[in-house]
Amino acid sequence: MPSTRSGSGKKSASRRPSSRRSASVRPAPGTRARGAAEPAQMAVYPGSFDPITNGHVDIIRRSLRVFPRLTIAVAYNPNKDAAMFTPAERVDMIREAFSDVGDRVVVDSFTGLLVDYADRIGARVIVRGLRAVSDFEYEFQMTMMNRHLKPHIETVFMMADESYFYTSSRLVKEVASFGGDVRNLVPDFVLERFVSRFARKPRG
Ligand code: ADP
Repeated sequence: MPSTRSGSGKKSASRRPSSRRSASVRPAPGTRARGAAEPAQMAVYPGSFDPITNGHVDIIRRSLRVFPRLTIAVAYNPNKDAAMFTPAERVDMIREAFSDVGDRVVVDSFTGLLVDYADRIGARVIVRGLRAVSDFEYEFQMTMMNRHLKPHIETVFMMADESYFYTSSRLVKEVASFGGDVRNLVPDFVLERFVSRFARKPRG
């Protein structure tokens, strides 16, 4: 594990005893104590989002409780992208899901290495979601590789509500393509796109 991890030095600085600050004097609400660690201002949540599901929505809403700003980044590979929706369509759907959040959420797309993209936009934190244990192995490898490439970028994991534990874009697409009901698993406008894409209504 690389020894240079961002934040660790700053964290101890916030605990340095200060002769000018007694323990009973707290910083005013909304302000930070002198010497306190800089919060991670921008986190990035990357994925295929092909299309966005309610599992993704849940992870994003949880992330917004932790990070002041979040970039949702649609990953695509122009040379071999077998996605159902174009990157622009995927971005549009995510924007529609978070139209109520204002500028705390930025939706973008990128190609190439995630850590390079994170550096370009000034994000120090990567958010990933975990479902069943099966996600762990892949996510673990990716995290270690990203840490090897850019030790100053941390990855944090979130778990969605248990009702989305088995929801994945791949599975909802497959079920919808056979006319199965995926109503509670994706936002309504995604459902509409499925209906027009597969030209038949999901069974209800
Ligand atoms: P997928 O195509 O597998 O649905 P993405 O590549 O779009 O997923 O996923 C982006 C991130 O969101 C990944 O870290 C993935 O594990 C996570 N994620 C996707 N669906 C869920 C869910 N239902 N619950 C928790 N995390 C999820």
